Amino acid sequence: MESCNLCGIIAILSKVQEGFQVSVQIREALKRLEYRGYDSVGIATIDSENKRFQIKKDKGKIDEVHARLNLDTLPGRVGIGHTRWATHGKPSKVNSHPHLDGSGKISVIHNGIIENFISLRNQLIELGHEFKSECDTEIIPHLIEEELKKGINYEEAVHGALTQLQGSYAIAVLNIDEPEKIIVARKESPLIIGLGENALYAASDIPAFLPMTNKVKFLLDEEMAILTLNSVQIRSIRDFNTIIERETTEIQWTTEMAKKGGMSHFMLKEIHEQPNALRNTLRMDPVIVEKFAKYLKDAPTIYFTAAGTSFHATMAGQFLLARIAKTISFPFISSEFKDRIGETIGPGSVVIAITQSGETADTLNAVVHAKSQGAKILAITNVLGSSITRHAEAVLYTQAGPEIGVAATKTFIVQIATLSMLALTLAEMKNSLPPAKIKELRSNLDLVPDFVEKIIKLEEDNIKIAADQYAQKEDFFYLGRGLNFATAAEGALKLKEISYNHAEAYPAGESKHGPIALIESGFPVVFVAPPDETQDRIISNVMEMKAREALILAVCEENDHEIIKLSDVVFRIPSGCNSLFSPMTYVVPLQLFSYYSAIRRGYNPDQPRNLAKVVTVL
Ligand code: GLU
Repeated sequence: MESCNLCGIIAILSKVQEGFQVSVQIREALKRLEYRGYDSVGIATIDSENKRFQIKKDKGKIDEVHARLNLDTLPGRVGIGHTRWATHGKPSKVNSHPHLDGSGKISVIHNGIIENFISLRNQLIELGHEFKSECDTEIIPHLIEEELKKGINYEEAVHGALTQLQGSYAIAVLNIDEPEKIIVARKESPLIIGLGENALYAASDIPAFLPMTNKVKFLLDEEMAILTLNSVQIRSIRDFNTIIERETTEIQWTTEMAKKGGMSHFMLKEIHEQPNALRNTLRMDPVIVEKFAKYLKDAPTIYFTAAGTSFHATMAGQFLLARIAKTISFPFISSEFKDRIGETIGPGSVVIAITQSGETADTLNAVVHAKSQGAKILAITNVLGSSITRHAEAVLYTQAGPEIGVAATKTFIVQIATLSMLALTLAEMKNSLPPAKIKELRSNLDLVPDFVEKIIKLEEDNIKIAADQYAQKEDFFYLGRGLNFATAAEGALKLKEISYNHAEAYPAGESKHGPIALIESGFPVVFVAPPDETQDRIISNVMEMKAREALILAVCEENDHEIIKLSDVVFRIPSGCNSLFSPMTYVVPLQLFSYYSAIRRGYNPDQPRNLAKVVTVL
């Protein structure tokens, strides 16, 4: 199942009349989605006696919010629940879901991002709508309210609202006037319908309702479903008049397997989520990117600071800013930042801090130092409202959703996607490339998610075979040049951290200044070799290694016959992806290679020894 979960949603429509409170089941279902990590929780039920919603929601983890508000007291047998991973508007009570329309009759929960929410909100404001939150989701109930004014029925109104949305969504909608009906819909975000004896369920992930039923109907992309006590009617969003028959499937997964979408580990699930994580990130509001880029436009010095995988993203960022925006920047490992920079950083300098969690202690420390010297701080992070954002004058949020695997995968490629957009925007401001070229690069960038999808589909089995064959090799070199030294460094880090092979990355040209002394027959050397201006030199490096009987593993384009001829193992990248964006595609086989090597060596890739997901110590 290929999707990218930002948060968890659950909707329950129960037939049981006596003494049944749906809110308890909803809370328990949300609890089963808790492994994803999130920042807020909310439940709405239909109080049919009083013809109104009963809603409890707040910022915090389920148990904390439950301890404060007692979520179990909400009356009724129809309800919806949401665990939020904030993308628009910080974690707060008012931004939590469910969101209501102006009349208080429509209630919506949503997983995803509404790309055009600003223009839709402005249109709705013109029509007299008032908004309470900063959340993109809030426009959905208001759009449905507006559609209902046209005198069409509820299903048509929801459909009418859906056709105006750009972006990704899985939603569940309740309507006070039709209390025994739940409408759900999805586009790019997951949604599965569960068929119980006495209830219907819809959730973004199967574990939510697995204890109640293992009978499911999968809602496919751009479909909506109307759930009533006796029926599940599925319709196409593109063609509302088409009613779709969908078979019922019995899920044989355990809850543990279901949490991982049927995959064996979170890391693998997250590797597979990368295409949609990228799509969501590429939806970033251009106005916000512009605001961020303005800080760079006239800055005398630009630094990056980051740790681990994020540092590798900064290495790619340096290249992208230089090549696309003709702007020089200097990446520093966060734990080294203060010692190396000392007091040379001054007012006017800009520091771009990159951290997935926004809580990495080394990066926060670097930022505090830079700030004390008068530098301006910008941040790129995956977590809204995290500590780094409080230090920053402008923030770009990647949209990878929660990453549970300790080894970063999807966050690396979304950081590079963000840096690519930043470089293109800065190039526009500085006129460093002709507008037509920038336009072309933007459309190339939009194709990257499809390439990532293809690579996983075409190469995963082949990579597994290679990992089975070579996982027991003790030492590896990872070599790349220019932009793809970053990819080589990230590939080596993945292998070290989950498979515990010794792996070292070098710029390929540097290997002759020492490391090559280690090469002997069968020593594995991984080359990251896209068809860019470094290719001839990379080929020379491959020859040098081959002359010493190294085992050559290459990530290269599928029709790059020269490299393929020289290599013992090839991980193929479909041709046609612009080389400027190659780290996002070329890293994917290396992530999979590390994953399958760890499996082969009997290690759990989700729990590497000695490592924590978020390093909050210095
Ligand atoms: N974009 C919505 C928000 O910021 C939904 C995020 C989610 O999927 O949790 O609240």
